Amino acid sequence: MSESRLFWSFHFVYNIALKSVLLHLIFLLLVVSLYGNITYNVCMLLGFKTKLKLNNKQRTQLAQHAGVARHAWNWGLGLTKQILDQNQANPEDKIKFPSAIDLHKWLVALVKPENPWYYESSKCAPQFALRQLREAWNRCFKKTAKAPKFKKKGRNDSFTLDGTIKVVDRFKIQVPKIGILRTYERLPQGYKPKNVTISRKADSWFISYKLEVESKPTTKTVARVGVDLGVKTLAYLSTGIVFEGTKAYKGYEKRLSRLQWLNRNKVINSNNWKKAQIKIAKLHAKIANIRKDTLHKLTTYLAKNHGEIVIEDLNVSGLLKNGKLAKAIADMGFYEFRRQLEYKCQLYGSKLIIADRFFPSSKTCSNCGWHNPDLKLSDRWFFCVGCGSFIERDWNASINLSRWSHRQAQACG
Ligand SMILES: [Zn+2]
Repeated sequence: MSESRLFWSFHFVYNIALKSVLLHLIFLLLVVSLYGNITYNVCMLLGFKTKLKLNNKQRTQLAQHAGVARHAWNWGLGLTKQILDQNQANPEDKIKFPSAIDLHKWLVALVKPENPWYYESSKCAPQFALRQLREAWNRCFKKTAKAPKFKKKGRNDSFTLDGTIKVVDRFKIQVPKIGILRTYERLPQGYKPKNVTISRKADSWFISYKLEVESKPTTKTVARVGVDLGVKTLAYLSTGIVFEGTKAYKGYEKRLSRLQWLNRNKVINSNNWKKAQIKIAKLHAKIANIRKDTLHKLTTYLAKNHGEIVIEDLNVSGLLKNGKLAKAIADMGFYEFRRQLEYKCQLYGSKLIIADRFFPSSKTCSNCGWHNPDLKLSDRWFFCVGCGSFIERDWNASINLSRWSHRQAQACG
């Protein structure tokens, strides 16, 4: 009797335990799958932009396309403005405001036959220009932007193409009508852009498009880090880690200037001169590659391991006026640093914070907050009169940056 009771109670407990284990397992699976969904399946669009390596024929083609896009935009803008004026003058007898498709139909029927040079360019260029014009009007109607303006030749020249676009290999991309375009920078592989925008800045042409990328958030070991970009060292982190950066190619730079010096008396276009030119070009490429590689290592390390990254908003154009600093800054490519950091922070799920350019990161003591307005650029160490701290200048600056917040900016400003 008691044995049987014992058996039943054991059976009962066993059942409960089993069920509870199963329930826990199901709960665990649910949490894991939810967590997985939230953190790992976020698709994002990364903007990619790079310089094109063009021959003269291609330069002409691109300028023609930009010209057609500009002509279509200006024609469409003139027409839509007339319609708006007309509607304002006759509120009872309004004309329907055209859609992008209407505008393109009218362009094909009225404008193209009178301007045969339209046919030399891809039909996408004017089509996209009209679509962008219509979007600009939409923003204006919603009062989020001002009315679109007429475009002038040579100012913000650009056009967009869609259709068969293919990344042919590491340095080649195929676009409709124009054909294969070459780039200086490696193109991301395995992506098929839906459309590309080609734009001009000064004498250079750039291609840009969106990449659909799955973000890969990483576990962060440091919550917040300040980064001071230096002249002597590439970067000083508030965690005490230093990225040297420049050392790697200092040797090559010496060789380069020696080669250039040796080459100074050679007859231009002679065989020896040509040989030396090739050597110089190769050395230039080598230095550029090392530089880029160093920057990539730094920005990947920062974005992967830190929750928040605070950098200074450098007034590079102002700094470049300072002759001595100019070379060091140009060498390290601060613009490139920020560009890389921006997209890597998106990719690895960290936050990039830009401190105000007037924030006195170098001139403030990171220990007590004493301010030294007389600190010179040549002072490599920060000595604090307030608390007696003696700390490397760049490290001090990076610690101050790591503590930067908007409130602080207001207090300083
Ligand atoms: Zn101090």
